Order: sequence, then structure tokens, then C-alpha cells
Amino acid sequence: MKPLPPGSTIGIVGGGQLGRMSAMAAARLGYRCHILTDDALSPAAQVASSITLGDYNDLAALEEFSERCDVIAFEFENIDAEGLELLRAHRPVRPSPEILRIGQDRIAEKTFLNQTDIATAPWREVNSLAELAAAVAELGLPAVLKTTRLGYDGKGQALLRGVDDLESAFLDLSPKPLILEGFIDFACEISVIVARNPAGQIAVFDAVQNRHKDHILDLTLAPAPIDPLIAVRAQTYARNLAEALGLEGLLALELFVDRDGQVLANEMAPRPHNSGHWTIDACIVSQFEMHIRAVAGLPLPPATRHSDAVMKNLVGPEDLALWPEILATPGLIPHHYGKAEARPGRKMGHVTVLFPYGALPGDFGINDALGALATTDGSLS
Ligand code: AMP
Repeated sequence: MKPLPPGSTIGIVGGGQLGRMSAMAAARLGYRCHILTDDALSPAAQVASSITLGDYNDLAALEEFSERCDVIAFEFENIDAEGLELLRAHRPVRPSPEILRIGQDRIAEKTFLNQTDIATAPWREVNSLAELAAAVAELGLPAVLKTTRLGYDGKGQALLRGVDDLESAFLDLSPKPLILEGFIDFACEISVIVARNPAGQIAVFDAVQNRHKDHILDLTLAPAPIDPLIAVRAQTYARNLAEALGLEGLLALELFVDRDGQVLANEMAPRPHNSGHWTIDACIVSQFEMHIRAVAGLPLPPATRHSDAVMKNLVGPEDLALWPEILATPGLIPHHYGKAEARPGRKMGHVTVLFPYGALPGDFGINDALGALATTDGSLS
């Protein structure tokens, strides 16, 4: 495939901050972005050259959208199968609908990971209460019961501690089928972002550590303060996954590191990822530029990190209230997503702090890492 020439239009399905930051990276490479969004003032719509206003599963909107793009990418990937086929009939879709479908279904995803020799938590498909009881007998308790589709930020899952929890959790979670996973007593959660272009070139970012608050990503530490061999294993998993999928685009692989140093993949997201926002400020090529390069068929430079970094998400009205202080604090790199309303739990922006390369050592406590982020009243930490 020939590289997409500057002046071409990249279609992005989804109007959120991932689309916004992708469109900003695309603009720097001379591309226009056309966004499919259901909100004319969405974060991506504000920085794009044009939009199609419509629902993600509205076939007429998908058709109009695709006709206005040279290639189609995603920042939101939960498009139904019919919509994906329609897009594919009109334009190259990257990543392919097959990859999006695998990522939409935890059972297809875990099956693919295991077939690619990527370790995961032990798991069983669960269609009935009897199957749940049988799966619990095999995997033991505690265990985590999840919906196979449309779960995010801890929604659509339940921790089963005792046999009394089985029935209510099974009845509460929908749609069925569900998946039961063995509970991983993890030492930390990490992620790796990998890009692959249609020519088969691959770029893998450093593994990072992710810390959550109320099931939402709070902090990313780059690089992850873990044994380098564990980080390399996670990167190798991501590279193997990109190859096995024949990825054209970019994906994030989220993993657990258990107390024995085993690396277990949890899930993949075939798009830029919140845990890669640090790359804008700490890498020569950010995840968003790498995404656009992969989708446009451009060469992929190495995913070189020039600095260590901590990224903090700004979530909801509480964090957004810190914006003036953030702007007034030297060393904080602010990113605002342009959302009009700061509802609780909504990702409004993020802040990155850079450290010299290698200066975020393994024994750095999170409070040390956040020293530079702390405001006078310590509210950010
Ligand atoms: P997920 O929706 O799969 O990303 O899960 C959300 C969060 O739940 C993860 O970031 C973990 O903190 C936790 N979690 C998910 N699956 C497991 C598991 N099998 N064992 C322990 N914790 C889990």
C-alpha cells in the first residue's frame, strides 16, 4: 500500500478525547480528520476539519461518513457487525473488523490470546447458573464474573467472594453469556501499546504501570517500576499479538503482574489508550502519531522514550477545579479535552510531569513521583 499523501482525509469513528488527540497528531502530518460523532461539540469535533453527526450504529450516518474519508480508523470501537461491514465495503478499515470483533468479546479475546501463547487468568464461559457453579468449582474463589461485551472501567463485573454471591451476580450481569475469571492477586497492573503498519513494521512503547481510583485510571508511571525482564515479556506479548492479528493500526494490551512475577494479559483495546497519554510529552513519536502513521501506511519510527513521566488523569469536577493551579505550576504539562460539562467520573483532561530519563526508579513511592504534582494544599496527590 502506498502511504496516504498529505491532504488526505482520515475518518475517525468516535468523538472523544482519543479522537481529539489523534486528529491533532494527524494535522501535524498534513492530514485532515473527518469525525463520526453524535455530538457536534465533542472533543474531537472541536479540532477536526469536518464531522458527520450521527449515531455509531446508524447505517445512513456510517455511509455518509465513509464516503468522505480515504481510510477509516477508530477511537471508539463498539460498532456493531453490520456497521463494520458497511464501512469495510466503502473504504479500508484499520484495524480490520475481525480485530475489532475479537476486542469486543472477552471470550474471543481470551481465546485468541491463549492461542497466541499469551498467558491470561484462567477462565470459563458461563451461560447458566449451573455452569457458573461448575466453573467456580474448577477455578475456586475469589473469582471475577464479567459480561463478555460492553464492559468498561469496572462496569459489568462482580467479585465473587463466597458461594452465596453466585446467584445474585449471575442474575445482575447482562447481557449473557458471562465469563468467569480466576482472581489474580496482582502486584501491579501494567500496559503496553504497540503499532503495526500495513507493511508489517512494528513499534512497541515501554511498559507502564497503571493505578486506578474508583475503577478509573488515575496515574500512569512510565516506565513501569518493575523488573526489566517482566517489562520485556509484556512487550513481547504485545508484539506477538500485533503480528498474530495482522494488526494495521495501534492497540493497547493491559496486563497483570502477579506476586510471582508472572505476566497475565487481561484485555486489549484496538485504539489509542488512556495509559499512553504520557507518550505525547515523553516520546519522540506519541501513541497518537504512531496510530495515524500506522493507519496512513507511513513508516513507524522506534517508540523511543526520551524522558520518564507520570501522567495523572483529571476526572470529574473535583480534578477540573485544579485547572487554574495546574496552569500556574511550572513543570506540569496540561491537556484539556474541551468538554463543556464536568460530570463525576468523566475524564476532563490530564497532566504530565516529566523526569530525566531513568530518574523514576523502582523504589519511587507514588507520593515521591507525585511530589511535582502536589499543589500547595496537596490536593492533587
Ligand atoms: P477490566 O474491565 O477487565 O479491565 O477490569 C477492570 C479492573 O478490575 C482491572 O483493572 C482490575 O483491577 C480488576 N480485575 C479485572 N479482572 C481481574 C481478575 N481476574 N483478577 C483480579 N482483578 C481483576
